[in-house]
This record gives sequence, structure tokens and C-alpha cells, in this order.
Amino acid sequence: MIIEIYSPEILASARKLVCLDRDNTLIRDSGYMDQNAEIEFNTALLAQLLSFDQHETSFCLVSNQSGIGRGLISVADVINLNRRLSKDLLERGIRLSSSIFCPHSPSENCLCRKPKPMMLNIALRLHESIDASSQIMYGDKHTDEEAALSANFIWRRAPAF
Ligand SMILES: [Zn+2]
Repeated sequence: MIIEIYSPEILASARKLVCLDRDNTLIRDSGYMDQNAEIEFNTALLAQLLSFDQHETSFCLVSNQSGIGRGLISVADVINLNRRLSKDLLERGIRLSSSIFCPHSPSENCLCRKPKPMMLNIALRLHESIDASSQIMYGDKHTDEEAALSANFIWRRAPAF
């Protein structure tokens, strides 16, 4: 599991946590994307994210990136693509606080890959000021939903692109 913090201030002060799957939820999935991949946001989802109070909400990417374990992309590819995402989102008024991803292939049977809830549990623990029962997870797959419910997140299916 790899964690990158973009904004320690939000982690410390946010009262609501919104975790976001990346591929096919926040952006269109075009296969195992390297750092130069084209970014196409889910505009319907962005509209929903903008409806949250931007000062009280921490948005955290939580994603499986098995392309690393499969040898198709590097850790740096994922980190750099996520940083680009973070910058693009900021220009649209949404500030990502952090990103957590699993770099393993399914055959490695790691502890972090969704549907296991570990990455969501860690996301929750990174936040100290979250109101009770105010954590939400957006995703597109059954494995996202399973992880969300296991970690006591409110589950929301991402709107279609
Ligand atoms: Zn993993």
C-alpha cells in the first residue's frame, strides 16, 4: 500500500471524508494508465463532489493499481498521474487531500487490495476530526462496494460518464 499526502492541513481539519475510486469512477479507464495517459474526468461525479462543503471535506483517492504488480506500469507512473489529477481537480475547485493505492497483482494475495477494507480503514485513520458516520465511498465495482461496507462507509455508486 502506498500513501501520498497532498494536504496535511485538510487531513487534520476535515469533518467529512469522501473516498474515491479512480479508474472508471473519477476518470475514464483506458487500461493500465502510465503517467502520460490522457485524463477524462467523470463530469457528473465532479458535479456531485462540488456539492460538498469544500472547506469541511477531505477527498481521498483509493484505488487498486495492479498494473504495477503485473509489470505494466511503475509506481512512479501512478504517483505522477495522480499528481496530475490532483492539479487538474484543484483547477476545477476540488482539492484532493491524499491518495492511497494498492500496487499488487491479485495473485500476490496482499492485505490492501479491494475488496479488502484496509485502504479505507487507513484513510479513516489519517483523519482526526471526522464527524461520526460521515465517511462516504464512491466507486463503480462490486469490490468497491464490498470494501466500503466492510469499513463502515456510506456507499455511493458513481454516476455514469
Ligand atoms: Zn495490495
